[in-house]
Formats: sequence, structure tokens, C-alpha cells
Amino acid sequence: MQITPFMTDLTNFDVQKTREDFPILHTKIHGKPLVYLDNGATTQKPQLVIDRVRELYEKKNSSIHRGVHHLSEMMTEEYEYARRTVKDFLNARDTNEIIFTSGTTGSINALAFSFGEKHVIEGDEIIISEMEHHSNIVPWQMLCERKKAKLRVIPFDENGELILNEYKLLFNEKTRIVAVTHASNSLGTINPVKEIIHIAHENNVPVMLDGAQAVQHGKIDVQDLDCDFYVFSGHKIYGPTGIGILYGKEHLLDALPPYQGGGDMIDCVRFEKTTYNVLPFKFEAGTTNYIGAIGLASAIEYVNSKGVENIAAYEKNLLQYATRRLIEVGEMTIYGNAKEKISIISFLPDKIHPYDMGMLIDKLGIAVRTGTHCTQPVMDHFSISGTIRASMVFYNTAEEIDIFIDAVKKAKMMLS
Ligand code: PMP
Repeated sequence: MQITPFMTDLTNFDVQKTREDFPILHTKIHGKPLVYLDNGATTQKPQLVIDRVRELYEKKNSSIHRGVHHLSEMMTEEYEYARRTVKDFLNARDTNEIIFTSGTTGSINALAFSFGEKHVIEGDEIIISEMEHHSNIVPWQMLCERKKAKLRVIPFDENGELILNEYKLLFNEKTRIVAVTHASNSLGTINPVKEIIHIAHENNVPVMLDGAQAVQHGKIDVQDLDCDFYVFSGHKIYGPTGIGILYGKEHLLDALPPYQGGGDMIDCVRFEKTTYNVLPFKFEAGTTNYIGAIGLASAIEYVNSKGVENIAAYEKNLLQYATRRLIEVGEMTIYGNAKEKISIISFLPDKIHPYDMGMLIDKLGIAVRTGTHCTQPVMDHFSISGTIRASMVFYNTAEEIDIFIDAVKKAKMMLS
């Protein structure tokens, strides 16, 4: 069988040097070198981020925005520096537009609640898509239940691309918001979000993009996209867990009520009436995950140092290589064949259960995800119970893909 070569000449990216930055990549699993292809679930952390978080706990830890003492002031400055870093990374207009949350899920729940309180009444409609992660379905469904509103769903075609002609037909005078994923975690599709936003804006409807699978794979410019809200998680872009971002255009955020009450989000508290703090603090009640926020800023600086364009080019190359090699194996279906994809491949070998293959290749040191990937409607679309998902990032190599392909072949032989 002909082996497709990896086009090393297409990218100018030193992957071996990059791998040195990630201590976990040198771990052995079941006595075999770890081949980590579960980056869609969470990414590994560079030493620099691990060191940063450790240094903060060892030398600088103190609650922010509260004290006049040195440590508290220093930590507050670092936290607000982290906010500026995120603002620059997304090319937001102002730091007031950057809210720290617990993650993508936290951000969407916050928005669905707050936006729903302000703008949604009985009979209103919310548009999502058929390829959303459960995190971008359930909070809107909960809102619909609370307000007796209705969910409308953009379908996707057999390649895993949203059908925009159908999307256009979903709008009416009751449509309040569109919430779609920038890139699909189970199909890999990069959605034509600029067009999606343009169509929504023609109908005077704001758009939230779920960037959980997009921020780590390419340049995000919220002003150029003209999205109204953008959300993502720190742990998927080489940062700590438990931290995420809710970006919103300032005038839109300003008009929304807070979704949680507590310390820091207030201006003046009296038993008769409480007034709220200004943006962004209005949406950051309680002691936030300030260490996570600062760790996220370090992760973003790390990504910037590698160059977002270099990362995107390398990952595109790796995706093409892995896809070609998987097709060469034969007797399997790849789910998600959109023209524009992030480096994710969902597949299912004929007559083999995804869990069986996942467990077998785990014994060979390979970490892939099996199941529905929190996108049950996507599995329903294809009438399957789940897929095997290999999700790659810029520290994965062509050699790792070869090991993975050999393991898939071996497992296939054993299971069929
Ligand atoms: N949306 C998408 C597209 C995702 O891939 C994920 C994580 N798999 C989420 C939302 C939820 O992210 P988190 O669990 O970090 O909140």
C-alpha cells in the first residue's frame, strides 16, 4: 500500500522543539509513549503555564480587588493584565467586553440566563444549529422552558456543513438571538460564521459564537467577525481548567442584568435596594478564578509566541495527512467532510463499536475520544451511537499519526 508522505515542506514549524515545552508528552502509558489525540476534549499545558500557576500560589497568592496590601494589589494588577491579554487576543475594543467565567459552559449559561431575562418573552425564538455541543443546546432549552420560548435548529448536510438556505428561512419577528458553534467538536467543520452573522444582522438579531474549538486553531478577531458575543474555555487553549471567557459588545453587555449576585459585582448594598458595579465586574460575582485567568494569559502569550498562522498551517497539514492515511486503511466512514475543518477526524470502522476500538488502542498508548462527544443530535443525524475522534494540535507529529494508524489497523483486525 502506498504511504502518503507528510508535507514537511509546507510548514515552517519546529514540532520537536515545541514538544519539549509540554512535559506530559514524554509520559508513558501502558509502557508505550503517549500519543495524545484527545485535544478536542482538553489540551496539554506547556511548562511555562504550569510554572506560572505554581509561582502564583507559591509567591503571590492573594484575593484580588479587595485589599490595599501589596500582594492583593499585585495580584489585581496581574488579573487585569490577563484581561488586557485576552482583549488583545480577540481584538476586542475594550477590556469592559471581557468577562472571566468558569469556561465555555459557564459563559453560555451566563449569557442564556442574562440575555433571556432581558430580551426573551413567551413565543420568542432562539436559533441554534444541529451540530452544537450540549453546552450550546441545553442552556438555551432551559431558557425556552422558563420563558415558553421556542428553539429553532439550523440543519447540516451530509458533509457536515450548515445549510444556510434553511438558516435564512428560520428568521421571523420573534427571533431573539442566534447561538452557533464557530467550529464543531465532533465533525470538525469550521462554520462560515461571517456569513451567519451577516444574515442575522440583516434581521437585526445578535449572534453568539461558541469558540471552544476555534480559538486554539486560528486567528480570532471579534471586530472583524462582528459577532455580538464570543465564548471559549482556557483549558482548550493550553491554559488552566476552570477559566473561560464571555466576550460581548460593550453596549449589549451593559444592557444585560447580572446573572449572579455576590461580592465584587455590587456598587452599594442596602436591604432596601442594591446597585450593581460597572462592566466587567457586574458579571464577576465572588472570588473569581484569578489564578486561572493569569494562567490563561500565559497560555495565550505562549500561543502568540508560536504564531497563530504557523499553528493553523501546521495543523491543516497534519489533518490532511491523517485523513489520507485513515482513508487508506479502508472499510470505515469519516463523519464530517466539510471544505473547512479544524484538525479533528471523527470516524467509525465498519461493524466495530467505537468503545472497543478506543479501549484496544489505549493499550498501545493512544488517547482518542469515543462516544457522542456531547453532540447527541449529530449522532442521531447519522443514526450512529458514536464515533472515534482523533483531535490533533500543533504538538502532534506525523510519526504519531503513523503509530495511530498502525494501531487502528491492528485493532480492526482483532475486532473483525
Ligand atoms: N462547545 C464546544 C464546541 C466544545 O467542544 C466544548 C467542550 N468539549 C464545550 C462547548 C464545553 O466546554 P467546557 O466543557 O470547557 O465548558
